[in-house]
Amino acid sequence: MRFISTRNDTHKVTAAEAILRGLAPDGGLYVPEDYPQFSLGQIAALQHLPYAELAAAVISPWLPGFAPDEVLAFTRRAYAPFRHPDVAPLHRLDGHTHILELYHGPTCAFKDFALQMLPQLIPASVRKTGGQDTVAILVATSGDTGKAALEGFSDVDGVKIGVFYPHGGVSDIQRLQMATQQGDNVCVFAIEGNFDDAQTGVKNIFGDAAMADALKGHKVVLSSANSINWGRLAPQIAYYFSAYAGLLKSGAIRLGDRVDFSVPTGNFGDILAGWLAKKSGLPIGKLICASNRNNILTDFLRTGTYDRARDFHLTMSPSMDILISSNLERLLYLLTKDSAQVAAWMDQLKEKGRYDILPDLLEKMAQEGFLAYCADEEETARVIRRTFDGYDYALDPHTAVGLSALQQYRAETAASNVSVVLSTASPFKFAGSMLRCLQQPVPEDGFLQLDALAAYIGQQPPAPLADLRSLPERFTAVIPKADMPAAVLAWLIG
Ligand SMILES: *Cc1c(COP(=O)(O)O)cnc(C)c1O
Repeated sequence: MRFISTRNDTHKVTAAEAILRGLAPDGGLYVPEDYPQFSLGQIAALQHLPYAELAAAVISPWLPGFAPDEVLAFTRRAYAPFRHPDVAPLHRLDGHTHILELYHGPTCAFKDFALQMLPQLIPASVRKTGGQDTVAILVATSGDTGKAALEGFSDVDGVKIGVFYPHGGVSDIQRLQMATQQGDNVCVFAIEGNFDDAQTGVKNIFGDAAMADALKGHKVVLSSANSINWGRLAPQIAYYFSAYAGLLKSGAIRLGDRVDFSVPTGNFGDILAGWLAKKSGLPIGKLICASNRNNILTDFLRTGTYDRARDFHLTMSPSMDILISSNLERLLYLLTKDSAQVAAWMDQLKEKGRYDILPDLLEKMAQEGFLAYCADEEETARVIRRTFDGYDYALDPHTAVGLSALQQYRAETAASNVSVVLSTASPFKFAGSMLRCLQQPVPEDGFLQLDALAAYIGQQPPAPLADLRSLPERFTAVIPKADMPAAVLAWLIG
């Protein structure tokens, strides 16, 4: 099995090449030519495996060219630092509603599942393609990705990791998580600007030929760790299988029963991983795309028009504040197998800010199980409060959007399938918003917010957040956005 570009399907590469390149030369995203298949018998057997073994069994077929033993060594290392013995535990909210807790990793958000694996996949891909250069990963972040990437790549041989975040644009806890990062190969810059400025700055550095030459002279190549990389998507397929296996094991479902998943969505990566799980044989019914007030995907999946001409809202689920959902392009290609058409749509999006798909493709998406709902800030707060009052369970704001979407779907259709809501972050990561939603006083200081939330919900904050108090701040520089290239050069080649 090879990987093809969504914008030119005559361009084919190996998994290792797809992981090293991130993006295809034509700007497309890499997708697998086929879907590996898992039988019900194989799925049933997964319930007896610890997470690292289950993940290796699920992920290996999606990484042709990587031996199963090699992948198992990666998953063992990747998931060892997780703080829960089940790695991705299921919490039963009621008889047919389960929460898949994906936030027990080192940075308390689900991105750890992929960003603990990518640092193993990238050096291995360099070896497989015969390269010897140092790989420098540059990341622009609005909070969660940057920290998860820093933590994953910290002190990994042959790799350096640099992160840019908007000064004043991340929560106090998120800033401290990055400013205190340990490791000899890491660097963190706050820039004077917003997230788009950081992202544009990084994109410009990637496109700068003179910079690439200068780095090449020092045997450094640039790469990216954002969610368009196949090496980030593949690891996420595993926890859909682990959720299903967990439901089997607990007796909540019988083998072959279809399970619905509700997924808080930003870049469409997480929910696409769920669809790939379904295409490879996992009995999934609906895939509910849950959006916050930035509901461009809700509109698209309901009307077939993707239109970014709309206001951008800052919400309390910032990791879903996105107007360009890059991974959607993969679904469009895989459902049409028409790379010229996908390239045309992406051009229209770039030039005119919108594109329209035909009704039969919209119908196809519905047949594949995709549904979409959104929750505004008030509804999100209501779900957090009701879930805490009714079930003594604290959902972070992203997860609350996911539960709201599931509840709206059930109210509309009277569906009562066993369902799983993906919980993408620890509530402590957004302690200030949580306290506001729970109608409690909100201290100004981030650590006092952790304490206040802990006292109110009767749970200890996760150690990686509580421990930030005692760590020295290593990175305090704030630079103008125009200085990003110079800062990267100074850091990488001195
Ligand atoms: C990144 C993120 C999301 C969105 O995931 P996508 O794969 O971009 O759709 C949702 N919740 C949290 C907490 C995140 O960090």
